[in-house]
Amino acid sequence: MSFFKRLFSSEKKETLDQGLARTKRGVLEKLSRAVMGKKDIDADVLDELEEALITSDIGVATTTRIIERIEDRTSRASSKSIELLLPMLREEIADMLENSSGDQPTDLTIPATEGPYVFLIVGVNGVGKTTTIGKLCHQFAAQGLKVTVGAADTFRAAAVDQLQVWADRTGANFVSQGQDADPAAVAFDAIQSAVAKGHDVVLIDTAGRLHNKKHLMDELSKIKRVMQKIATGVPHEVLLVLDGSTGQNALEQAKQFTAATEVSGLVLTKLDGTARGGVVIGIAEEFKIPVRFIGVGEQPEDLQVFNAMEFIDSLLPESFGSENTTS
Ligand code: GDP
Ligand code: GDP
Ligand code: MG
Repeated sequence: MSFFKRLFSSEKKETLDQGLARTKRGVLEKLSRAVMGKKDIDADVLDELEEALITSDIGVATTTRIIERIEDRTSRASSKSIELLLPMLREEIADMLENSSGDQPTDLTIPATEGPYVFLIVGVNGVGKTTTIGKLCHQFAAQGLKVTVGAADTFRAAAVDQLQVWADRTGANFVSQGQDADPAAVAFDAIQSAVAKGHDVVLIDTAGRLHNKKHLMDELSKIKRVMQKIATGVPHEVLLVLDGSTGQNALEQAKQFTAATEVSGLVLTKLDGTARGGVVIGIAEEFKIPVRFIGVGEQPEDLQVFNAMEFIDSLLPESFGSENTTS
């Protein structure tokens, strides 16, 4: 069974283009400046390119890798024409992202499971966990899949209500024990209910937590442990949600969170309305954990499977075109 490929790879390019418009404009402006008045790719251009990539939130480590590759290629190439810069940049980033995902597919393929396929959604406060769950509910429902959500963010009453609104809107089975309930007990209930109803997917919402709060990280372990009393192999996916508009902070959060707990996939939200979308490239390259989904708006349909090639296509044109400031 491969739910996600069918779900998300349809005509989403326009949404992606729109969502990434600000990042693209920023990157292109910087790149145009880097090549301005230049005919050939030289040391100056590479310096400027390096700065352009770093200030586009791609990250220092990833930028260094990209620059090294381009330097190497240019030094061996017969033509150093500036026209070759964008195509080369696209190729090198694409190649890097393809290799960095290892044997992990960039689209989320769901193997057939005994019972429902269970997602545990984690991350700090306000990054878009609950909204991502709502979007997933919407898209699963559109495919005729039966979805159960568990309100294991029991820290604030409003969190429970917010999830219920999404469940009502999308027809998902809503499982809650209200505020202050034990999150692990809610997760247990949700899976039990999904099994009883023969549901396909379970999405467990959790309270925002910082990686350095040990008791809150322990609570995640407890949720997982208790879940396993009712079904083997759950959760199938632990998705860490990161706010892409925070740029390098998102990268730092990913580093610390993945060190503190086991994470199987990443979600980058709020890529719309930010110029910092380049961080997705840095994160996809740096972590051996696949970026599963990206959020490009607040509407239910504004969630996409992350595909490196599509992402690069929306971010970098093949030539400067009308924006070409060189002669
Ligand atoms: P949580 O605390 O992690 O559960 O975060 P929420 O799901 O409550 O989201 C916090 C805010 O971010 C809400 O106002 C959401 O509408 C908004 N949000 C979430 N995802 C996106 C996105 O992809 N794009 C935009 N523009 N806003 C988003
Ligand atoms: P504090 O930890 O002394 O500030 O006490 P609070 O009254 O703010 O929190 C009570 C309990 O909830 C403590 O165990 C906190 O660690 C925990 N807590 C506080 N803030 C958060 C939060 O944003 N998310 C979650 N999951 N737990 C929190
Ligand atoms: Mg929430």
